[in-house]
Amino acid sequence: MFTNFFKKYKLPKYRISQLNNHYYKEFLASFDEMSTLPKELREKLKKEIQLPLLKVVSSQISKDQNTQKVLFKTSKGSYVESVLMREKDRNTVCVSCMSGCPVGCIFCATGQMGLEELLNEHQIVEQILYFARILKLESKKVTNIVYMGMGEPMLNLENVARSVEILLDKEMFDIGKRRITISTAGYIPNLEKFLNMKYGVKLAVSLHAPTQELRDMLMPNISRKNTLKDLFEVLDTYTEETNKRITYEYVLLRGINDSVEHAKELAQLLKNRLALVNLIDYNENSCFDFKKSKNTNLFKKILEERNINCTVRKSYGDDIKGACGQLGVAKI
Ligand code: SF4
Repeated sequence: MFTNFFKKYKLPKYRISQLNNHYYKEFLASFDEMSTLPKELREKLKKEIQLPLLKVVSSQISKDQNTQKVLFKTSKGSYVESVLMREKDRNTVCVSCMSGCPVGCIFCATGQMGLEELLNEHQIVEQILYFARILKLESKKVTNIVYMGMGEPMLNLENVARSVEILLDKEMFDIGKRRITISTAGYIPNLEKFLNMKYGVKLAVSLHAPTQELRDMLMPNISRKNTLKDLFEVLDTYTEETNKRITYEYVLLRGINDSVEHAKELAQLLKNRLALVNLIDYNENSCFDFKKSKNTNLFKKILEERNINCTVRKSYGDDIKGACGQLGVAKI
């Protein structure tokens, strides 16, 4: 974030480290707090770099206190939501890479907003730093980051890639690569580019249907041009080269994609592939007529009987609309 500033004032290396340390490791939110920097330098920074990068509009905490959803506003006036999910052994931040999303999956609240703004790498990282500041007060840390908030990461590839670089950089946020998960609906051209960048982060693919026909119905904008056949060609090459397992997200919609037949088709599709299926119970909301499936356990059983690894994603914060597929509903 400070690159141009560093260049302009030809700052010595140790000053750059101090600044990065204050911002990315100590999570200081203003230049005034950066006490190791001379006052004159802090004044210059304040003049040239506007902090905070995202303004907090509202913050809600779920009844069980485990989920916090924050609504941010960008300098252009778009809204972005991010969620912190607390568990015993981990604190996961779900970040957005866009305000809204152009993909328009028919069950997704964010998709109904359309694309409002692509976030830059610093705005993406700022969402994580915001929660890191809160956790720091409790002597806790952000342990995991998932790009599963608003937006399709592969349609904001350059900014997403740069944000990953900041997060991995030892001089900056410095988190382990396997603690970051990028989730994509499968926009193939950019997915290939991203995989070739070889960051080593985890990959999740929003599958949601075992057949081309059903996927075309649920995710029409992405599925028709990025067919399952082509998508699996890219994913198979990736697993062959890396031996890394891919997570497949599958939101269960009652009467749409949750039958015994669908489970068998999904097992067949993923047979002999390094895969983990993450079943997601649909969070019913007033925007859509879709209903939560009653077949979650049966669906899981059918997959497991066919040796497909499967988990059911714990739902976080549906009382504050912070759960999967709900971001973007409650705009102010
Ligand atoms: S599911 Fe993901 S890709 Fe589809 S509309 Fe929602 S945010 Fe976009």
